[in-house]
Amino acid sequence: MAAVVTAFLAGATVSAQSKLNVVTSTEDLASITREVGGDRVAVIALAKGYQDPHFVEPKPSFILAVNRAGLYIAVGRELEIGWLPPLVTSSRNAKIQPGARGFLDASLNVRILDIPTGQITRAMGDVHPSGNPHYWLEPGNGRLIAQAVRNKLGELSPGDRTYFAQRYDDFDRRLAAAEKRWDATMAPYKGTKVVTYHRSWPNFMARFGFEVMGYVEPKPGIPPSPSHTLELIDEMKRGGVRLIVVEPYFSLKTPQAIANQVPGGKVLILAPSVGGVREVTDYIQLFEYDVNLLAGALKQVTGK
Ligand SMILES: [Zn+2]
Repeated sequence: MAAVVTAFLAGATVSAQSKLNVVTSTEDLASITREVGGDRVAVIALAKGYQDPHFVEPKPSFILAVNRAGLYIAVGRELEIGWLPPLVTSSRNAKIQPGARGFLDASLNVRILDIPTGQITRAMGDVHPSGNPHYWLEPGNGRLIAQAVRNKLGELSPGDRTYFAQRYDDFDRRLAAAEKRWDATMAPYKGTKVVTYHRSWPNFMARFGFEVMGYVEPKPGIPPSPSHTLELIDEMKRGGVRLIVVEPYFSLKTPQAIANQVPGGKVLILAPSVGGVREVTDYIQLFEYDVNLLAGALKQVTGK
């Protein structure tokens, strides 16, 4: 198999010109696109993994990148509603407008959690009105995103379909092998209850058998309030919950204050995205890092 791929690569001369320019909203989508697209794509991610993806400050370089893109890949589910639509419009690039062939909404064929039922009001919070947009934090969804990317790249560059299919199969195999490892690492801690700052982790926690029993934010996108914080401390004490998972872009002040009030309380900064911390350079590394950090912290607090 490796020999076939090598021969295939050696036989192909790929000039910079023939690469498809892909722009993605996040580094997670960029990593998956590089896995599948290999040397046939040039990928730029707009939001950095250490930034809150809901609130990204558009830079002039973004417009230039989007203007040159042959494919734009969005997280969707309104994650980028605050910054992407004006950027896409002002890029004046007809190829990547929503609905065009060069626009891919990565959320369309993945497992989405927290889909609201009934009437949606602002009181429910600001940022997750169409279901939870942090769905990439589940390896199975990463696989589904990769499939959508493989299909879309094949549609835009039909001559490279076999190449993309081989790259996808290779990614799928490595991801499956890694999942076995992560399951084994997490197995002793199944059923553990945790608190998270933002609702970034429902897919991740469900996938590894954890239960999220509360949030530092009273509602998605709404900053902590004293009354909510006091309630959360009470609930954590009653439920014996010790771990507070925080995304790197939030202040540690409230989480730390909560941890100080809870017996054995501990704040843990996990990476919600590729690039969230320096070590996490690709999609598989993202889980490698988070799984090991979480298991290490739980080993400390539970002694298991
Ligand atoms: Zn969110």
